[in-house]
Amino acid sequence: MTLKEAVELQKEPFLQSLAESIRIRSVQEPPADGAPYGPNVRKCLDHALAVSKGLGFRTTDLDHQMGWCEFGEGDEMIAVLGHLDVVPEGEGWTFDPFGGEIRDGKIFGRGSMDDKGPTMAALYAMAALRDSGLPLKRRIRILFGTNEETGSNDMKYYKSHGGELPVMGFTPDGEYPVINGEKGIINVNYEADYTQTGDVRLTKISGGSAPNVVPASARAEITCPDDMKPQLMVRAAGCDRITCTETADGFEILANGVSAHGASPELGINAIGLLMDALVTLPLDEPLLGFVHFLSDHVGLESDGTSLGIALSDEPSGKLTFNLGTIQGDETSFLIRINYRYPVTFTYDDCAPICDAAFLNAGFLKVNETHKACLYLPEDCELVQTLLHVYADETGLPAIPKSIGGGTYAKAIPNVVAFGPIFPGDEVREHKPDEFMEIDRLMENVHIFAEALYRLAR
Ligand SMILES: [Zn+2]
Repeated sequence: MTLKEAVELQKEPFLQSLAESIRIRSVQEPPADGAPYGPNVRKCLDHALAVSKGLGFRTTDLDHQMGWCEFGEGDEMIAVLGHLDVVPEGEGWTFDPFGGEIRDGKIFGRGSMDDKGPTMAALYAMAALRDSGLPLKRRIRILFGTNEETGSNDMKYYKSHGGELPVMGFTPDGEYPVINGEKGIINVNYEADYTQTGDVRLTKISGGSAPNVVPASARAEITCPDDMKPQLMVRAAGCDRITCTETADGFEILANGVSAHGASPELGINAIGLLMDALVTLPLDEPLLGFVHFLSDHVGLESDGTSLGIALSDEPSGKLTFNLGTIQGDETSFLIRINYRYPVTFTYDDCAPICDAAFLNAGFLKVNETHKACLYLPEDCELVQTLLHVYADETGLPAIPKSIGGGTYAKAIPNVVAFGPIFPGDEVREHKPDEFMEIDRLMENVHIFAEALYRLAR
């Protein structure tokens, strides 16, 4: 039996197992006994392990944090990293989000595309590979993650509890052909503290919704003597994309930007930057005015960190992206939250100390930071080359690897890249209402995964 024939034989049991999995609402919930991510996530893991056992594979449940099944012999292991947890269904469904309904050649439900469909596809690809009898030198392990959507603590647990690392592997939780570069991501918050005694004071400032979103609007409330009001309002309103509204004891400044994802801030117009350009026209007290000047001069509407001295750039992944995402404050302090992403051939030390120094020199306090290192596997390495060839052979499509500004599950363990399940040009329906995946696309994935596992493990 050829590998292709073996894959086709798995179609019905694959779709049945996938529908069963979709019917479990595996959204993270508070921990319960034996269920660190909630009872339904545990149930979904139990289901995947039972299906794996039924297929004849060795299974392990690692303290209900995550689990895996394995097949084959050899010192080295090839891994597929998938996840069984899903985001909440949200509003706007016309189908049952947890029905696993099949209609018009599509399977509907939360997780059909992200990531139960691709994870089950990998499991059945391994079953087909086993049934084909093709000789292999390495073991294959399907890792069932259960906390991808809310922090990847499952894989932190795996790594810190002696989980074996693969020599090569992929996560079907991104897109084709292959994502071989993912920028490093730094989230950092800085605080500005000040006192105000002058006639013109900032009493409230706010803008943005999250660090990784370009703020569409930002506003500031100013108090000032009545006789100064008209003149100050004219000055502020003279700035780009600013409107001023009179209030009882002063006026409000509203900045209208354009929102965009934090991974591509150059597509937006940062409302907080616009607001800073308006605030510098006002006779505010020091040191507040200094903070405002710094943000206007060194961030402003820039999206690549030029004026902060961190405008890194490289050939595989392009420019560093910088997004001042939120501001929140009152008459004595404000907090800003920043999300920036450095190119794949650089490190944290190439940018973070420089950014910190600029803010600290301007008088800001650093209050919190998280960092996710970048991921980069050169195009000519064995893993990337193998996956590109499999993709090209199976689809006949051009196979050029790509770098992204976002982060995928591949960052959770070493030697893994994102590969599938979404084809170039196909609609991304993850996290949206009426999430579905075409049965034909799912089966294409099973064929591609089976061939990839064969070439990586042979
Ligand atoms: Zn996912």
